[in-house]
Amino acid sequence: MNASNLQTPIEYLKGIGPQKAEVLKKEFDVFVCQDLLNIFPNRYVDKSTYRKISELKDASAEVQIVGKITGIRYVTQKKGKRLVADFIDETGQIELVWFRAYKWILEKLKTNVAYVVFGKINYYNGTFSIAHPDIELLEKHKNKGRIPLQPVYPSSDKLTRKGVTNTLLMKSIHQLLTVSKSVFVENLPQSICEDLKLMNRAEAMRNVHFPQSLDHLGKAQFRFKFEEFFFIQLRLIRQKLVHQKKIKGYTFSKVGTYFNDFYKNGLTFELTDAQKRVLREIRKDVGSNAQMNRLLQGDVGSGKTIVGFMSMLMAIDNGFQACLMAPTGILAQQHFEGISELCEKLDLKVAILTGATKTKRRREIHADLLSGDLHLLIGTHALIEDKVKFKNLGLAIIDEQHRFGVKQRSKLWRKNDLPPHVLVMTATPIPRTLAMSLYGDLDISVIDELPPGRKTVKTVHRYDSNRLRVFQFIRDEIEKGRQIYIVYPLIEESSNFDYKDLMDGYESISRDFPMPKYQTSIVHGKMKPEDKAYEMQRFVEGKTHIMVATTVIEVGVNVPNASVMIIESAERFGLSQLHQLRGRVGRGAEQSYCILMTGKKLGEDARTRMQTMTQTSDGFKLSEVDLKLRGPGDLMGTQQSGVLDLKIADLVKDNQILKTARSYAQHIVKNDPGFEHPEHRALISTYNQLSKGKTIWNYIS
Ligand code: ADP
Ligand code: MG
Repeated sequence: MNASNLQTPIEYLKGIGPQKAEVLKKEFDVFVCQDLLNIFPNRYVDKSTYRKISELKDASAEVQIVGKITGIRYVTQKKGKRLVADFIDETGQIELVWFRAYKWILEKLKTNVAYVVFGKINYYNGTFSIAHPDIELLEKHKNKGRIPLQPVYPSSDKLTRKGVTNTLLMKSIHQLLTVSKSVFVENLPQSICEDLKLMNRAEAMRNVHFPQSLDHLGKAQFRFKFEEFFFIQLRLIRQKLVHQKKIKGYTFSKVGTYFNDFYKNGLTFELTDAQKRVLREIRKDVGSNAQMNRLLQGDVGSGKTIVGFMSMLMAIDNGFQACLMAPTGILAQQHFEGISELCEKLDLKVAILTGATKTKRRREIHADLLSGDLHLLIGTHALIEDKVKFKNLGLAIIDEQHRFGVKQRSKLWRKNDLPPHVLVMTATPIPRTLAMSLYGDLDISVIDELPPGRKTVKTVHRYDSNRLRVFQFIRDEIEKGRQIYIVYPLIEESSNFDYKDLMDGYESISRDFPMPKYQTSIVHGKMKPEDKAYEMQRFVEGKTHIMVATTVIEVGVNVPNASVMIIESAERFGLSQLHQLRGRVGRGAEQSYCILMTGKKLGEDARTRMQTMTQTSDGFKLSEVDLKLRGPGDLMGTQQSGVLDLKIADLVKDNQILKTARSYAQHIVKNDPGFEHPEHRALISTYNQLSKGKTIWNYIS
């Protein structure tokens, strides 16, 4: 077989056929034979050893046992029946169990013949069992070539149902590897292979599927992990270079009166050093003739808004308009109020545009934007509708970016002849490794310092059984004039179950904190926007003492007088969400508190999360822990998980490999961006495949 044969459509491979090919395409993006080789095993099982039944200890271990079946019977259960075979070796007895396809299995099973069985051990009612074991006659097993470490490929119900089993994948891949030995050409420069003592591509391909030994496996995996990171980084770094060279942006050449006036007379506090540094970084970007694409990270309360606002003044000083886009109507409204206040003495025109803006007002805004009468526009997604046209948009700020996809970001660009500068602000501290792979095309600024005088929020973990004491604490705080948040998890917008929790909670709060002495607000996602805004407003104005809410208040809401955040069923929240919620308090001069309420029974992860929350208020530390606990997909939400669709490398565990890959990639792009050096030619084919938008593993070997 030669390289072009690896391009043969998968249905022509022996044992596959059109039906299986169909599921392989759907589930794995496997179209041609080559793609099959790029399905990497999830794990490997050790089939080099055989265990005795008397040695079995742990449920859920995978074991291989030689023995005989002594009897077969059906056992009826609540629903239907199961097929059970008694299996013995010279040391003991276990059960083999099947819950489906009995007939076919029953016909095949023989008693008193030696079998080798393999599977995961269960322990129930004093008996060990294996459900749906791999089972093979010992005679046959002996004649087969031994595979000590057997690959286990990713699988799904759909695949198994259509007959795409692990055995089939193993056979097909084995077949491909045998006939395509010589076609795996090295795609990394010689010097890197030597530097890192990388296993060559052909050998690595064989060993990642059928490892000769654990040592070989380790080397093969290292090679592919490096390769995966390396090409992704190569592309990101190169794109950034091209981007800087090619995408022209408006040059804000001067720092004008708006900025200077505000700096001298408008600021009611001294900027932190971090804020000043970030403003300098932004000024440098917008002062060059390339378009700015900057991510501004800063913990909740670190003062990103003022930095964003002063950047907008830079735009206005140079005759441009600016806009700020927030993820929700509530947040847009808050930004609008805050920024209008800041603009009061500056004689600037600001407007807000959201889904709730009435048609008449909307038309006015459209007209004022086009004429240039309007300097600043604040709003939600409504800002990127096609009808919204600026006279000359110079800067677009996106707050809480993780809620917007990359697509929406690029849509903002198409509003003028030149793209506006883009500043993305996020309070979700993204660990550096993640930021590196995710936002290779963005420059990153960090506000790593809180305004002076902030007291850290005292955080405690309390069990539901302590509720009465927590309520007493709430009463005391209200007595002192403070306000309280009580937040319920709402994992799914549509989950009625979660709403029931919320409503039950609201009722019990209303009972324990009766009117008229206590006033309670409630805000959740199923309410009409105007009702939400009304309730929110009552709380902001201090007319209500307690705000019972779902996570709609998670981002941005600013009520300095609120000093207690109670999070119900806190175990159901991720760390970054908990941290965001905690950020709603501690905004005023008073000592603030965050109380995490959970039941007594907690999983290990949940316990770690509660502990981490009580121990640290450093958003970056929290997000590192979060990444470890949950994996990157979750952290970013679904919108961006595609970017992290890594086949073999792991962002957390292989952090070090990522760093190495990145530094090699940087070196190459710096010295030979066109890959012209003979040694770099090997990169071109893989790189080009990648740039066509295929994932790294789709390229031709
Ligand atoms: P976030 O980064 O979470 O968006 P904000 O921009 O909302 O934070 O700022 C939180 C609060 O801190 C605001 O009330 C803001 O006016 C205030 N603030 C911002 N910078 C400073 C500073 N340097 N000194 C004192 N207070 C500040
Ligand atoms: Mg903010």
